[in-house]
Amino acid sequence: MKVGHLEAKPGEHVFGYLKTAVSRSGLSPEIPVHLFAGTQPGPTMLVQGAIHGGEIIGSIAILNFIQKLDPTQIKGNVIAVPVVNRAGFELGERGSRIDGKDVSRLFPGKKNGSVSDQIAYVYFEEVIRQANVMVDFHAGARTAYERYVLFSAEDDPNKLTDLEKMRRKLVVAFGLDQAAFFPPGTFGNNSAKEAIESVGVAQITLEFGGGTGWFKNGADNVRDAERGIWNIMKSMRMIDGAFESDGDLCTVYNAGVVIWKPDVDGLFVRLKAFGDVLKAGDVYAHLIDPYTGELLAEMKTPKDGIVIPSGQEWPTVGATSIGILGSIDRVEDRRVTDLYVY
Ligand SMILES: [Zn+2]
Repeated sequence: MKVGHLEAKPGEHVFGYLKTAVSRSGLSPEIPVHLFAGTQPGPTMLVQGAIHGGEIIGSIAILNFIQKLDPTQIKGNVIAVPVVNRAGFELGERGSRIDGKDVSRLFPGKKNGSVSDQIAYVYFEEVIRQANVMVDFHAGARTAYERYVLFSAEDDPNKLTDLEKMRRKLVVAFGLDQAAFFPPGTFGNNSAKEAIESVGVAQITLEFGGGTGWFKNGADNVRDAERGIWNIMKSMRMIDGAFESDGDLCTVYNAGVVIWKPDVDGLFVRLKAFGDVLKAGDVYAHLIDPYTGELLAEMKTPKDGIVIPSGQEWPTVGATSIGILGSIDRVEDRRVTDLYVY
């Protein structure tokens, strides 16, 4: 298996830094890549963390995973990338200050674009294209998220493509009790994800908690993120073993209601909990002045929905979603679902 200048022979674990781009001042955010080449033929799984630089719960899970992964015992290959966006990771930030861009939105990238465009280009060509399945870890960072599997909306749920059928299985196999998709238009276009799937890569995204104190209290999320990686390998028949999960059921939400942060910054106080049922006009959260306590904004839900929370702590940043609500699309039962994609 070759990725850039890195090469792993069957049974080997090889680590190195993938050269991507050089900024005008000579900064070079090379990407750390672990290759595990199996001794038997099989598919390739890509598992990556911190493409948003501050979201590192998955990164720790990946480091734990690679400690245990024995390439002589697997079918196929694993590419493990604990931190994709090193420029953002250095500062604990989502994007890259080199050019102000979010790498995750740029695939398939541009060979002659800015630094992030070039990183996206090299990563897409060298890494993503080799994968059959891509597991992409996100988390709330300073933002408080719940944990769920996120996946792209299907073109027509009554007429699934082979890739969409495969993705449905991966969503359930990962092992969480919740999953969500954003219906088309919820967050603007999705061209980066479309580019990835256009080269035949089935991808799932994970949101894995976050918020103040996650490092102290996040051991369960790190553990279950790693559990999910092993489950995906089982689903791909790269290793044997029983699936482990939160439980038999996985509730899938159609997450079509977004509460956007208003054009003021304040201390975010969420008033509703996961699973609360809201009616249009109900208040989801307050933004208050962090020094006087004055109410700056009430965040009302524009539509009915069940709370799939998100939010931010102080300081609130940017034009971002601050609440996500959905409706239950379906409930998958692991006892009667085929979890194998090969
Ligand atoms: Zn993210």
